[in-house]
Amino acid sequence: MRILIVEDETKIAESIRDVLSHSGFVPEISTDGEDAWFRGSTEDYSAAILDIGLPKLDGLSVLRNWRNEQVNMPVILLTAKGSWSERVDGIDAGADDYLVKPFHMEELIARLRALLRRNGTDKKTQFRAGPLLLDTRQMRVSVDGSPINVTPLEFKLLNFLLHNRGRVISQEELATNIYFQDQEPDSNAVEVLLGRLRRKLKTDIIQTRRGFGYIIEEHDK
Ligand code: CA
Repeated sequence: MRILIVEDETKIAESIRDVLSHSGFVPEISTDGEDAWFRGSTEDYSAAILDIGLPKLDGLSVLRNWRNEQVNMPVILLTAKGSWSERVDGIDAGADDYLVKPFHMEELIARLRALLRRNGTDKKTQFRAGPLLLDTRQMRVSVDGSPINVTPLEFKLLNFLLHNRGRVISQEELATNIYFQDQEPDSNAVEVLLGRLRRKLKTDIIQTRRGFGYIIEEHDK
């Protein structure tokens, strides 16, 4: 499930991203309100985690704009400590839940899961492309029914490509989306990781578009 994280404080944004991707989600970070508004309106996310204090456009305005445009994904607001009026405004603007900063990552994940469950969007935990099956609850991968032993990083890479299937993903985009904040993403590492993963999968499901990046094609089933 793709989750949009809107937060201008890099450290917080990256820790949320790491925790989410570790829990089987496919997180993406947006660092200002205008970009977030645009992405939420044009892309398909299962939920958004939205900070209120943002550059260019504040979180409450982003949320109002989305709701006016019938963008109905569940939204968890991140609010400042002690500001009850922000929370009231947030609920008025169409937020589904809120968390007061600083919060525990475990609580964020629990709230997010509860929200997705309420919305009935958590039912899909298995994703297929041709012979490939990926289970984001059990963190398992199989090809033609045979389980494949993958590392957490390989799982994240496959999960990201599968959630973006039908679209060519550059090495740079892969690197920024699958590495943890304390690791320096570099495209060479992505290539090595991909090579290893392909050997394990023993199928050409991940294709290379020379000069552009990688793609898992849409499959009928
Ligand atoms: Ca902020």
